[in-house]
Amino acid sequence: MDIRNGFVGTVGNTPLIRLNRLSDETGCEILGKAEFLNPGGSVKDRAALFIIKDAEERALLAPGGTIVEGTAGNTGIGLAHICNAKGYRCLIVIPETQSQEKIDLLRTLGAEVRTVPAVPYRDPNNYVKVSGRLAAEMENAIWANQFDNLANRRAHYETTGPEIWAQTDGTVDTWVAATGTGGTYAGVALYLKEKNPDIKCVVADPMGSGLYSYVKTGEIKSEGRSITEGIGNGRVTTNMEGAPADDAVRVDDPACIKMVYRLLHEEGLFMGGSVGINVVAAYTLAKQLGPGRTIVTVLCDGGARYQSRLFDRAWLAEHGLSPD
Ligand code: PMP
Repeated sequence: MDIRNGFVGTVGNTPLIRLNRLSDETGCEILGKAEFLNPGGSVKDRAALFIIKDAEERALLAPGGTIVEGTAGNTGIGLAHICNAKGYRCLIVIPETQSQEKIDLLRTLGAEVRTVPAVPYRDPNNYVKVSGRLAAEMENAIWANQFDNLANRRAHYETTGPEIWAQTDGTVDTWVAATGTGGTYAGVALYLKEKNPDIKCVVADPMGSGLYSYVKTGEIKSEGRSITEGIGNGRVTTNMEGAPADDAVRVDDPACIKMVYRLLHEEGLFMGGSVGINVVAAYTLAKQLGPGRTIVTVLCDGGARYQSRLFDRAWLAEHGLSPD
């Protein structure tokens, strides 16, 4: 018998995929954790599940309660599925700049969705702050607070990290991932360093994010911008605090888009933009470190969530980008 128990029992235990062309070309094993195969379609199902379980265990959520969250989309999608499976209500605050596909999907799943203008975190009308205020004003509601709720990174410390360690028989020697909340990167990095302190942990960062300079110099500074969604940050979240980082790699949008199309045409993988950043970073490290390394990164979500953007030539052209 091999049966998983409902939506919740289907989260995690995703395959680790060898990216064949990129591995053969570099002489490294470039491996992607297939988080797009989670039942809600992204890496954020794990954080959503741990955040809800944590609130239940601490008796903060009663039956019929509401989960409120500010999200770039994927955490909200994970939460909305789990709310349906467990009988909670779901209220999502999302910046209006996020892809229409994610906003439509949230509504289809039954979440109440409020779109807000995209303003920086320091602005009181930032989506994260709005979601926190809404949760505080409601009865029988919790704020998932994925950026600063450590249940998020615990999901990756307790599940993603151990899965990667077991799936590579402990041969993983490099871990690289971009960070949004930092939960995935930090949880896995903390676990792997405990298993073997020699494992190199590297932050991948899009343009417009401050973490590359933070890892390199200790100071948060950003330049440029990125069309990628769900990654990059202008602050060190509670989930990122204390996370080991041996190095950082910065990836620009043209390289990201080129890789997203390479993954589609050469590897048969239809992936979102953060995957482009992650895999370019893994490929850059493979070239830098030389053959023989085992490099693991994350395939965070699939391309369908960005079809009207990353896979639309006219949209790309408007942003000065091209798949060619
Ligand atoms: N990629 C995508 C597409 C995401 O939605 C997110 C989460 N916002 C991430 C990567 C980053 O994951 P984390 O929040 O664990 O840093």
